[in-house]
Amino acid sequence: MKIVAAQKILKANDQLAEENRRRFSAAGVFGVNIVGSPGCGKTTLLEALIGRFGDALAPAVIEGDIAGSIDAERIDALGVPVVQINTDGACHLDAQMVNAAAGSLELGQLGLLLIENVGNLVCPAGFDLGEHRRIVLLSVPEGDDKIAKYPAIFRGSHALAITKIDLLPHFDFSVDRVVADMRRLAPAARVFQLSAKTGGGVAEIGDWLQAEAAAR
Ligand code: MG
Ligand code: ZN
Repeated sequence: MKIVAAQKILKANDQLAEENRRRFSAAGVFGVNIVGSPGCGKTTLLEALIGRFGDALAPAVIEGDIAGSIDAERIDALGVPVVQINTDGACHLDAQMVNAAAGSLELGQLGLLLIENVGNLVCPAGFDLGEHRRIVLLSVPEGDDKIAKYPAIFRGSHALAITKIDLLPHFDFSVDRVVADMRRLAPAARVFQLSAKTGGGVAEIGDWLQAEAAAR
């Protein structure tokens, strides 16, 4: 019997993630890891950002899903290069999967690589993919206690997007509580409020992302 400690697996992942980051940087590609629960609006945010940037940032997308290509088809319809990773049951992406997927993209022709992680607030927190920034989404219907209950994924993120903000009248969701919890865990992180219904907030998070990418 062979036992491989989780620590060792994570260390190997971190090394490969650094390699991914160097490769992206050398190609002039800004990598973004987008995490959040199933149904929180990750793909919808990608569509909105792509619509806003147009070709200006030369975006491409890596989609992570346990099965199927529903999200990749949505991105493909926008005419943006997209690679679907099927994790075959794994509940998160890792640096190895992203390394393989990036191999089928023309990195030299890209400016922005948006990586949509598997919908999950737990283990994506432990796997650096080689991104430059991580955005975590929390939708109003999920509840305002999730930062307190799943701190790791919020702590390591550079921005929090509170999504489906148009549903606030229908839920007991305190934006103040969420902002305060995020401040405690990630004082430097930016907080955005988004509504796919009205398009509200997309300009703000898009401008932030563009500035972060330009600063590199
Ligand atoms: Mg999705
Ligand atoms: Zn997992």
